[in-house]
This record gives sequence, structure tokens and C-alpha cells, in this order.
Amino acid sequence: MIKMKSAVLSGPGPLTIEEVTLDGPGAGEVLVKIAACGVCHSDLHVINGVRAAGQAATPVILGHEAAGVVEEIGPGVTSVVPGDHVIMAFHPTCGKCYYCRRAMPQICETPDYPDRAVDGAHPRLRVAGKTPARQGIGVGGFSEYTCMPEGGVVKIRKDAPLETVCLIGCAVTTGIGAVTNAAKVEPGSLVAVIGLGGVGLNCVQGARLAGAHRIIAIDVLPDKLEMAARFGATDFINASAEEDVVRKVVELTQGRLDYAFEAIGLGKTVEQAFAMIRPGGTAVAVGVTAQNVTVPGRAFLAEKKLIGSLYGSASIHYMIPRLVDLYMEDKIMLDELVSKRRPLSEINEAFADLEAGHVARSVLYPGQ
Ligand SMILES: [Zn+2]
Ligand SMILES: [Zn+2]
Repeated sequence: MIKMKSAVLSGPGPLTIEEVTLDGPGAGEVLVKIAACGVCHSDLHVINGVRAAGQAATPVILGHEAAGVVEEIGPGVTSVVPGDHVIMAFHPTCGKCYYCRRAMPQICETPDYPDRAVDGAHPRLRVAGKTPARQGIGVGGFSEYTCMPEGGVVKIRKDAPLETVCLIGCAVTTGIGAVTNAAKVEPGSLVAVIGLGGVGLNCVQGARLAGAHRIIAIDVLPDKLEMAARFGATDFINASAEEDVVRKVVELTQGRLDYAFEAIGLGKTVEQAFAMIRPGGTAVAVGVTAQNVTVPGRAFLAEKKLIGSLYGSASIHYMIPRLVDLYMEDKIMLDELVSKRRPLSEINEAFADLEAGHVARSVLYPGQ
């Protein structure tokens, strides 16, 4: 059993730093000392859900964009040893289920260990040694340590800086993979990206990697449009100043937009993405949304496609190490995504920044 500091969400108030005990690793599990964890909108969705309607059982330890060093392995683990550097995958893969065997591990149907209970029975995490806590969004990265199933840790090269490549655990893989795996954007394509947070900026750089001819960046904040320019966008639409974003995109592309990526998670913007593509084009819903989407059925006669993408539609154990290589060879930008680095104790400030749209990404250091 390990005693550690974790940022805990216990209710509608701010997160608090608590002493938490962690059991494990059990059979097939890996104990990881977390070096750094990015702060993502999906964590904020959970916090706001608790604040609005008491959704999600608390207490919970959030954080799912984490990298660290293997501390200990449980019986039967063969893919990593103590000392290995790893990135955590918030949707672990089992390698055995229907989807893993069909080469679609991103929708692996093995339960996502929502509570990470040892042997499926005893709560693994306890606040102050007694109150059981959940390991939120699969990882529980706002903490000094985490225990993961072997399929949820991906070994990476040791010369890559953990405090930066942690972003590959969520935003980078999700955004770049949506472009290269889900949509399979071809060189010369016309692409639009709606929403330029951590995921959207990675859709932009994914489109650049894929050789897109034009990349239209759409957001309501001018500084995010500026960021998108650094990531490879060629055209810019400030959606707060533009009356009709869809018409503007159609104008810019003469109605020939091949791909649109929605990276916010709103029904309305998914509908806009679908409306702006050409006949035969593809709109990809990348953002997390619980909202309904309504599209005109006649558009399907024009072969317009609306698809979803989870976790970059990636085979994570292949793609995550490749993205680390691309970063180390200066082919993708990660440092530019990190606008602020903070100790774990400043987690509430980091969420306030994210909510205000001030930052692409904060990275927290649980060891500080
Ligand atoms: Zn995320
Ligand atoms: Zn599986």
C-alpha cells in the first residue's frame, strides 16, 4: 500500500489535496509514479457535471493525460519493467475482446476499470485511509501514483521529456488520430477545424502532417486563432465576429471542403461541421458531446458522411510511441501546447484558466 498526495473532487466545491492510500499492483497491473499530467476539458466536464447536477460519484481523482515511470509490476506483467517510462492510456486495451481482435482497440469492450477495484471487489483508493475514491477517466493522474492494467500503460523511449509527452496521453493522440486514422485525410485536401483547444490544435497539426492544402481554423478567441497559425492553419475564422460560419467556409472553399473536424463537443457545432463539407465529404465529431445532433437526411443522398472518433481511432500501443518519435524529430509541436506548468497544489487555478479559455494546456506536477 502506498500513501500519496492526490487532488480529490469530493463535491461541488474546489478540488482539495488529500492524503490518499493506493493498493496494488495486483495481477496484470502496473504501479506508475506520475511525473506530469495535463489538464483536459474532459476533466472539466466531470467537475461541471458534479457542480450542476451531482453527476459522477465522488470522491474521484481525475486527470487522464499522464506520463511517468514504472515503480512496480504485478504478477504476469510482461510488457514493462520497473524504471520504464510510460504514457498512460485512459482507455486501456485488453487485446482479447471482439474489437481488439478486429484491430479497433480504441473501442475495446472490456470494462474501463471505472473504479479500479483490486480483484473487482475492494476499493483501491481511499481518502484519508478510509473513504473509497474512484479513479476518474481511467487514469487518476492528478496524483503521485496510479495503478493501471497492463493494457493501459504504453512504454516509450527514455530520452523523451515526460513533462511534455504526457500530452500524447489524450489531446495529441485524439486530435492527430482523428485526422490520420478516422478521416484518413489525403495530401491536398481542404480541411476545417472547429474549436482550437488542445484537441483542435492537434487536428490542425494532424492535417498539416497529412499534407492538407488548406486548413481553416475556427474559434471565438483571437489568440487561439494565432496559435492555430503556428500549428499550420492557413485560413482563420473568428466565429464570434462572423455571422454565418458555414457560409464563410463554403465561400473560402468554393463549396469544396473535404473534411471538417469538430473539437468542442456541442451538437450545434457538429451540425455546422456537417453543413460545411462538400457532397461526398466527411465531418468528424471529435469533441465529447452528450447533446443530440440533427442533420438533413437528404445530405446522405449526396454521400455526405458524419463519423465519430474516439481516442484518435488509434491502436494506442502502436501510435503513442510513434507520436513520441515524431515529437523528438521536431515533426510535431508539443511544447507550444503547454501554456502553463504548475505544482499539483495549484490545480484549481489550472481549471480556472482552462474554463476562461486562457490556455491550450496546463501541465501539473504531482510530485511538487
Ligand atoms: Zn482528455
Ligand atoms: Zn479489448
